[in-house]
This record gives sequence, structure tokens and C-alpha cells, in this order.
Amino acid sequence: MQTMRAMLLEAPHQPLRLTELPVPQPEAGQVLLKVHACGVCHTDLHIVDGELSQPKLPLVLGHQIVGTVVQAGPGTKRFRTGERVGVPWLGATDGTCRYCLRGQENLCEHPTFTGYHVDGGFAENTVADERFCFSLPATYTDVEVAPLLCAGLIGYRTYRMAGENVETLGIYGFGAAAHIIAQVAKYEGKKIYAFTRPGDTSAQEFARRRGADWAGDSTQMPPDKLDAALIFAPLGPLVVAALKATNKGGVVVCGGIHMSDIPAFPYSLLWEERLIRSVANLTRKDGEEFLALAPRVPVKTDVTTFPLEQTGEALEQLRDGQFVGAAVITITFA
Ligand SMILES: [Zn+2]
Ligand SMILES: [Zn+2]
Repeated sequence: MQTMRAMLLEAPHQPLRLTELPVPQPEAGQVLLKVHACGVCHTDLHIVDGELSQPKLPLVLGHQIVGTVVQAGPGTKRFRTGERVGVPWLGATDGTCRYCLRGQENLCEHPTFTGYHVDGGFAENTVADERFCFSLPATYTDVEVAPLLCAGLIGYRTYRMAGENVETLGIYGFGAAAHIIAQVAKYEGKKIYAFTRPGDTSAQEFARRRGADWAGDSTQMPPDKLDAALIFAPLGPLVVAALKATNKGGVVVCGGIHMSDIPAFPYSLLWEERLIRSVANLTRKDGEEFLALAPRVPVKTDVTTFPLEQTGEALEQLRDGQFVGAAVITITFA
């Protein structure tokens, strides 16, 4: 039996453990991939911390997978052996529920999420449903393109939810998603206000480098009112801070899968048709649109790489905000 190296989560709150697992076999409709890189996401932390309560266990995390097809399972036809593909969080849907049928497959009643319900990409190999894989723009390296697959895709959906009437855009939490979306928003002519942890001047400097017109602490008011605010940090109080900073008719969009409680606030902050909404998951259409747009901007990703065995270290550094941009696990083969 062929085996592969993988980082395994055996139970919430446990450190990931480097182990050998059997190489998975592709079933009907699946491709077997050799993984080259896999981005690290806040959602991985929420799974490790037990804040998302339904993971398959034991589990290989990782849902921003860049790999090449090494074996195509029965009935597959989209990709050839050797072709590079990306695997996102949305691993499969039932295709038949009311949400799938009306173009909201991100809300599918029976979804399969990569690195949550099924094993993901912090391993030398993985299998994926070919219908949910993406072709990747050739201008990016494996490491550069990995953060586009969740930080980019979900960030893009979050940004689109801000709507049409946006001249001034606030971004709360300037990490992987924000640094990508700031470039898209700049390309589309928006004025960008970036908010970071109080006193995090290196993140503020990074935000200015990646297109922010103003960067400051999340406790500050921006110099102009915001038409929309995107929240990428998992902190409920930011929703109230963002509402205070928005114009009439403004939209506050929460891009994360988990957030601490939102404190009570006076109705006057919501009055005048302000809106709070969340974004859940992605559709394949989001992915296709964004992966076509990214090379035109062109979006550049700032990446800190870690070898597979240091995935746990990458997660802890993400938790503590120790690097700017995105973290990506790279896999080298013996
Ligand atoms: Zn993610
Ligand atoms: Zn469905």
C-alpha cells in the first residue's frame, strides 16, 4: 500500500500530528492530486479550536489546495493527468436542494466542505470532486495562487455583497483576504480605509503598501464615512465599530465563518437603511469570476511559507498575527 505524509487533527484542541496515511484512491468523479501547496485559513483555526463542531475526525485540514492530477477516477473527464488544479472549501453539493436549484449552492443543504467533512490539503496527496475544482491562472506560481482559493474567493464574495454604491470601503482585519481584496477594490476605483488591531503599525504599513488610502486602529474613526465595511477579523465588536463608521444606506459584510458575539447597540446605528449581513462559503461562479479577474488586476499575494511539518506553527502564527498577508504550506517530496 502506498502511503503519504499528512498532518492529522485527531480531536479539537490537539496539536496537528505528522503521520503516514494510505494514499486515497479516487472514486467515481474524483481526481487524485499530488499537493504542491495549501493555504492556511482562519477556518482551520476555528476547526482546531472546536468552534466549528462537525468535523470528520481524525481529519486532514486545508482547503486552499494547489495540486496536479496524478490519477483520474472512473467517469472523470475535465482534467488530464499532469494538469494543475485548485481545490476550494466547497468540495461538493447535493445539486438537488432548493438552494442549489436557485443558484445559491454556497447555501446547499448537504454540502461537503474540504478539510472539514473530507480530508483536505495538508498532506502529500488528496482526492477531490472534479466538478468543484478550478483551473488556475498560469501567471501565478503554486504558492502565489494558493491564497486566492479561500482568502481570495470568499473575500471576493464578501466584497461583491457590499453592492454597487460604494465609493469609500472600510476593511476590518488586514490579513490574507483583505490584502487581496484591497487590490481588487483599488482596481475598481474605490477609496480604501484599513483597520487593524490597535497599535499594529506593521499591518497598517502593509495595508498602505497594498492600496489602502488610510490605515489605522479598529478603535479609530476613519477620516470619511464608509459606504461599506468588510469584516475579516472574527471579532463581534467590530460590527458595531463598522456600523458607527458607515454612511446612510451603508452595508457591513462579515466575511468569516465564525465570530465572537456582537455586543448590543442602539437602533440608531442601524437606522437609515444600514445593513448587516454575512457571507457563507462560495459558489463555483464566484470562483470562476474571481480567478479570471485576479490576473487582470493583477492581484499580488504576499505569502509566508511553511513546510508541511510546521503546519501547526503556521496556525499559531496566524492566530497571533505574526506575519503579514497569507500563510501557505508547501510540500516537497523526498
Ligand atoms: Zn478558508
Ligand atoms: Zn444543495
